[in-house]
Amino acid sequence: MIYFLPSGKKYPKIMIENYEFVTHLKQRDSTRWRCGYSVKTNCRAYIITSGKVLHLYKPHNHPPTFNGDTSSVPSSLVQVVNHEIRNK
Ligand SMILES: [Zn+2]
Repeated sequence: MIYFLPSGKKYPKIMIENYEFVTHLKQRDSTRWRCGYSVKTNCRAYIITSGKVLHLYKPHNHPPTFNGDTSSVPSSLVQVVNHEIRNK
């Protein structure tokens, strides 16, 4: 499941399968997000969203980090393109 977390804060988040991503780079027609734990664990996972398409890059090097309640957060229907497989 993919959740776009409420963006009341300065930096919105995306949660994918209990991994959190934070905004890294906003470009004209796409946004790059990095793992919310990239600093703590040196994780290289990142994603790029462009319209309704979400690209996954690089697997995480740690277990899922999100423990909050997602029942009140709406999930979004997007097309996911997984690039992790190509790197193996
Ligand atoms: Zn990660």
